[in-house]
Amino acid sequence: MSSMPPKEIRVRFAPSPTGYLHVGGARTALFDWLYARHHGGKFILRIEDTDVERSSQEMVEGILEGMRWLGLDWDEGPFFQSQRVDRYRAAAAELVKSGHAYYCYCTPEQLKERRELAQKEKRNYKYEGTCRRLSTEQVAANEAQGRPRAVRFKVPEGESLQYHDLVFGTIEVAHAQIEDFVLLNSKNHPTYHLSVVVDDLEMRITHVVRGADHVSNTPKQILLYRAFEAEIPEFAHLPLILGPDKAKLSKRHGTTSVTAYRDMGYLPEAFRNFLALLGWSPGDNTEIMSTDDLIERFSLEKINQSNAVFDVQKLDWLNRQYIGASTAERLAPLVRKALEGKNLWRAEFDGDRKEYFYSSIDLLKSRMHSINDFAEGGQAFFTDLFFVDEAAAKKNLKDPALKELIPLLADRFRGLDPFTLESSEQVLRALADEKQVKAGLLINATRVLLTGRAVGPPLFHIMIQLGRDRTTERLERISQFTTVN
Ligand code: GLU
Repeated sequence: MSSMPPKEIRVRFAPSPTGYLHVGGARTALFDWLYARHHGGKFILRIEDTDVERSSQEMVEGILEGMRWLGLDWDEGPFFQSQRVDRYRAAAAELVKSGHAYYCYCTPEQLKERRELAQKEKRNYKYEGTCRRLSTEQVAANEAQGRPRAVRFKVPEGESLQYHDLVFGTIEVAHAQIEDFVLLNSKNHPTYHLSVVVDDLEMRITHVVRGADHVSNTPKQILLYRAFEAEIPEFAHLPLILGPDKAKLSKRHGTTSVTAYRDMGYLPEAFRNFLALLGWSPGDNTEIMSTDDLIERFSLEKINQSNAVFDVQKLDWLNRQYIGASTAERLAPLVRKALEGKNLWRAEFDGDRKEYFYSSIDLLKSRMHSINDFAEGGQAFFTDLFFVDEAAAKKNLKDPALKELIPLLADRFRGLDPFTLESSEQVLRALADEKQVKAGLLINATRVLLTGRAVGPPLFHIMIQLGRDRTTERLERISQFTTVN
């Protein structure tokens, strides 16, 4: 008995480089990648750049950069459609020869006129098949005159076309609704439908996993597969991503380019986890999933039909969870970048003070909103010239008694040896008792003086982290706040 080896799963991400990698594209790429990785298959990257005027090398670079940031490595490609145009022309010629396509000599002006007339009469325009009915002689005459012509697909007679979408189930479209679509335009330029099918065939794609905006394209593409007498791949269309106002996610909702999220301080693993939940769930309530978890649990069956909503609060929450759970080693290069961006990076953080740099990250990480926050909310750990939050100073430094108490506290810390969590706390509480003030008054004031902020890690940990000298120096700055009242 012989058994067929299981067919290799081959999926592709096929962006058009007419913009950067946006959230929707990244989600499509991620789902394709997860599916390939889950099955040990191949993930192919194909750049659909046949629209030369709207495509650019810069956008291609931007797309690759976004994919690399998200860790979506591809096994084959990138292939560029602009380099394969001859293949598409040959395929169109093949279809004309086999009777599945025909030359169309209708001029753009004629088509425009007919379309406008339809619009005026409030009917949907569909190419009426004028040139489909030309006799062999008429075609020969047109060719002899060298008239410009497009190639159109000859939609076969028939009732309706049915296919099974792995997400949306059975989809049925009447042939009458499908027009004889263009394969090559009158400038001999291939259209999307032709090039996508030729490529998916040649690249032996087994599963077309792409955005739901392509559902309406699928019947035409299936007709093409049939005309080529080729095996039809499986289709899985991913639900749309909406903004919080339930309109399709677009520039109107703010940032949609993936690398902009990197620049805002999101961790790629958090962003990837977030994208995975846009239209898919593992079937229980698990939300935090490592890449390995995602690969293991991902399946096309669990993709939702209903639209996904881009919830930035959830993204922020995930980002905080991931930052808090990351090792200092993982975060260090990213925090370094953030500090460099604010001119706060110092070579000693990678030299004598490396340990200090790492332990500062560990102390701060569970409270950071983003990677950039290390250089913002956390900047007092990396520079003495840190920003002091005005509201925090107003609230916590306003008690006039502090002008005397804080210098006293600084004095006592200066002579304190060893300077530890326990000893520093003892000193502070003893002073509060002695002066009959609440320890909280000293704690809150000290925190603002040491970090510029009203909230942050436990105070005594901050003091030990900064060390005795820095702590006392910063406490002495109370004199600069005398105008606060
Ligand atoms: N190039 C198309 C796009 O960017 C995708 C084509 C496809 O996945 O079939 O929308």
